[in-house]
Amino acid sequence: MRLRNPYTIAYETVTSTTNVLLRIETSNGIVGFGCSAPDVEITGETPESVLAGVDEVRSALIGSDPTRIAQIVERLKSQLSARPSTVAGIDMALHDILGKVAGLPLWKLLGGYRRSFKTSVTIGISPVEQTLEEARKLVGAGFKVLKIKGGSSVEEDIERIHRVREAVGRNIELRFDANQGFTVKDSLRFVEATRSAHLELIEQPTPRSEVDQLGTVTKKVPLPVMADESLMNLRDAFRLARRDLVDMVNVKLMKVGGIYEALMVNSVARSAGLEVMVGCMDEAALAIAAGLHFALARPNVAYCDLDGHLDLENDPSTGAVVLRKGVLYPTGRAGLGFDLNVFE
Ligand code: MG
Repeated sequence: MRLRNPYTIAYETVTSTTNVLLRIETSNGIVGFGCSAPDVEITGETPESVLAGVDEVRSALIGSDPTRIAQIVERLKSQLSARPSTVAGIDMALHDILGKVAGLPLWKLLGGYRRSFKTSVTIGISPVEQTLEEARKLVGAGFKVLKIKGGSSVEEDIERIHRVREAVGRNIELRFDANQGFTVKDSLRFVEATRSAHLELIEQPTPRSEVDQLGTVTKKVPLPVMADESLMNLRDAFRLARRDLVDMVNVKLMKVGGIYEALMVNSVARSAGLEVMVGCMDEAALAIAAGLHFALARPNVAYCDLDGHLDLENDPSTGAVVLRKGVLYPTGRAGLGFDLNVFE
């Protein structure tokens, strides 16, 4: 899928994305749909490795009971270790089937905590004037939360945040994501210098594997600090929580390996008093729907950053979620609430 507006973050510029769409048909005619959004930088996978992975497990899936999600996903995790978006795509299709078997939208089946979720929308790294233009356009379209990307230059980021705050006024929430681009010193300088702009949180300021740096920033700044790239699985969640290294975590289905795993990560976060944001990759609306159903189900998911589908030009699953004035709603139909017809 092509991106209408290519964007830049601290470590790359993105112009298009390739997802793998998956269809699982049951013997009584129910069809579940899933989506994998591999990202070499984050999940270590390519579209080719996802296809190869699905092929590896195809014969094991045939003949199994698709409603026994724990049994299947536990098996997949060992067969497809280090391929989380591959597992996520299959996990998603299984959950879609489960909802369709039950005749319920998945969010209700998983807990049904809320009906809709206000989402942030992301602005990539661009010259300040361009950032302001985009910020005004998004606020005009009804978005109430903007996530500003940065991490390449702390001084430019500071200026950008102040200028965006001036441009959008007090009533818009602003979040900042450095995508690992800062040192501890940069992070402290950034938070101090943007205090009057009232940011809501800072995401992954420091390098993913240097979790002690993340801990130092968390201890020293008054702003909530969120782990994104540093949290890839349940074990990471527990480590970050046990050592009190962050205030919040960004859970993406493609990183952790689907809804089954995300629910467990969410429980670890809740037990440690950490709030969860549901995030996404550049992914089709079908995958966004899966993230949304997870987020709607559980009270501990406090923030929603599900905007990866908004900029895609030829998404075959457009309509899998409904967006009105910056708020996401499920479609109301069973399962993930959407049937893909690209396979016919
Ligand atoms: Mg992030």
